[in-house]
Amino acid sequence: MRVLLIEDDPMIGDGLSKVLAGEGMSVDWVRAGADAEIALRDAGYAIVLLDLGLPGADGLDLLKSARALGVSTPVLVITARDRLDDRVAGLDLGADDYLVKPFETRELLARMRALARRRLGGASARVAAGGSELDTETHELTRDQVVQILPAREYALMRALMERPGRILSRAQIEERIYGWGEEVESNAVDVLIHSIRRKFGKGVILNVRGAGWMAPKS
Ligand code: CA
Repeated sequence: MRVLLIEDDPMIGDGLSKVLAGEGMSVDWVRAGADAEIALRDAGYAIVLLDLGLPGADGLDLLKSARALGVSTPVLVITARDRLDDRVAGLDLGADDYLVKPFETRELLARMRALARRRLGGASARVAAGGSELDTETHELTRDQVVQILPAREYALMRALMERPGRILSRAQIEERIYGWGEEVESNAVDVLIHSIRRKFGKGVILNVRGAGWMAPKS
C-alpha cells in the first residue's frame, strides 16, 4: 500500500520510511508544507502520516484544506504536540487518529492497520473477492487451498486489485499504487509480478482485460 509521510524531521522521517518500507509499504516522504499540500490531493494513498509542525505550514491547516477539497484518505497525525486542544482540533479538522511523539513503532503500525481496515469498511483484516482472500496483516493470500505469503510488491498489487474487484486498473494505475515517486520501474515490472502471482495461485486469480489492464474477479 502507498503511504504519504509528511514529516520535516530528517531522523524521524528516515526512520519511519525504513520501518514502513520494511513492512512492504511504498512510502512517499515529503518534508515541506508546499509539497505536502500538493501530495495530499493525490487520492492514491492508503494512509497519510501527518506531522503538524512543518516549515512554512501548519499541518492542521493542510489537513483542513485537503478535507475541504474532498480528500478522504485516512490521516494519522503524528506530532510532539500533546495539548488536549491540539488533539481535539486535529480530530475536528478531519484527522482519523492521533499519535503523540515519541511513540513505539508497533503502536504506529497497529493504528495504521486499524485505519486501513476501517477504510475497507470492516473490522476484518481480510479482504475477500472472487474466490481469493487476502490477509492484510500477514500478507497471506488464499485461493483454492493454496496459501502463501506474498512478497511486498505482489501484496501491494493484489491489494490494489482486490480492494475494488471487477474494476480495471491500468498499468499506470498499478505502478502508481505500488511504486514510490522517482523509483525506477522496469517496463515489464507489472507483468513479472502478475506472472509470479498466477504461477502460484492459478491464472484466474487476476483477469486480463486486453488493452485496458487487469482486475480481480468479482465472483
Ligand atoms: Ca515537525
